[in-house]
Amino acid sequence: MSSYSRDLWHPFSNPNEIKQRPPVHIVSGDGVYVRDSQGRNLLDGNAGGLWCVNVGHNRPEVKSAIVRQLDELAFYQLFDGISHPRVTELAAKLVAMAKPENMKRVFFTCGGSDSVETSLKLARQYHVINAQPERKRFISLKGGYHGTHVGAATVSGQSYMHRPYEPLLPGVSSVDMPFPYRNPWNCNDPEILAKLCIDQLIAEIEYHVPDTIAAIIAEPVSGPGVIVPPASYWPQLRRVCDEYGILLISDEVVTGFGRSGSLFGCRGWGVVPDMMCLAKGISSGYIPLGAVMIGERMERAWDASGDDPKAFISTGVTYAGHPVACAAGLAVMDIVEKENLAENARVRGDYLLKRLQPFVETFPSVGDVRGKGLMIAIDLVRNKQTRESIDPTLGFAYQIAKVGRENGIMVRPYGPKIILSPPLIFSAQHCNDLTDALEKTFSQVDK
Ligand code: PMP
Repeated sequence: MSSYSRDLWHPFSNPNEIKQRPPVHIVSGDGVYVRDSQGRNLLDGNAGGLWCVNVGHNRPEVKSAIVRQLDELAFYQLFDGISHPRVTELAAKLVAMAKPENMKRVFFTCGGSDSVETSLKLARQYHVINAQPERKRFISLKGGYHGTHVGAATVSGQSYMHRPYEPLLPGVSSVDMPFPYRNPWNCNDPEILAKLCIDQLIAEIEYHVPDTIAAIIAEPVSGPGVIVPPASYWPQLRRVCDEYGILLISDEVVTGFGRSGSLFGCRGWGVVPDMMCLAKGISSGYIPLGAVMIGERMERAWDASGDDPKAFISTGVTYAGHPVACAAGLAVMDIVEKENLAENARVRGDYLLKRLQPFVETFPSVGDVRGKGLMIAIDLVRNKQTRESIDPTLGFAYQIAKVGRENGIMVRPYGPKIILSPPLIFSAQHCNDLTDALEKTFSQVDK
């Protein structure tokens, strides 16, 4: 079976480049393994590639929930107050799971970009119904990722995602993310760095005048670089938001449901946000689903608004809270809880990190190995002293991924990095197999 299709354009890729570098064809999956069209069984180091398949592939519980739902009701919409059993069950389940985060309501979407886009709109609307309609601006972090819709792409701190599609959403600015390994201050002390970043954020808020800012959006652990902020950063973010009346949106699309070693990423920092954006792990990638969870402050504002037309929610997509996706989500939540996947991610993540960190000493191109839970990045550098990244156009990371497949693993090259985000059901043996194959791969490629 040919893996190249001239009929298909791939997201985030150059169609002409794909011709030169035919894509890998994944034809089946089972547990923590996938199989490619050459018949190779590959240990899935990225849970379906994009941090999704947290419960593993081919789970009978999820499949049978989907089939049962198809037999019962394939689709009905949620507009105009219409409902169906699975969506109300999943909403109740999510509110119960997010009790420590004080989340009160769920607004379903079809994925992460949808969730982020919706959270931005609801943030503005909250301020409208709260008699502060001039609060329109958003602040996000440079280097972060929040999705591809116009608003979500604008708050993503990735300039390459902006350039082809500008002008994007006005009223968005971004400030530095505390990245201990590489930052503009060359600051190696994480807590001093957190303070420098918070001071920069405050300066940005003051510059725009505080009561023009609607929300700050951030990932508890930032996906693109797997950047783990210092422990004091999120509590300081919360404090700044409270001080200035700004909403805090925690983009949990990757970190939600255990990936960073706690059920939600913000729980790992002991912080209660005002909204949480969810997707990926919510249905473990079996079927597209997303959600925005709404905290107490916003619930109160809507509750108090009575029949004020300003409180009418003028957004939502056809397939939001799709019954089949919600059935999958309920089955996934069952597994997440019964198998204690957040704790497993914490334990396996610590172990994997410990096994991978010696790569920094062993291999010339490995500058840093970092992560939290089962989110890990191997940072590839040209120069270990200056920490200058390798030139991603040279294809080194792709070569690692390619030779990795020959050695039985699927890992993701992302710019000058290798990203690891395996299913959360990974065992110690899987961690060993992944590390051994990566070690062999780097020995072959990193001469
Ligand atoms: N937010 C974060 C933190 C993400 O990592 C992603 C996707 N990788 C998104 C939002 C967008 O999600 P989707 O691709 O499902 O639209």
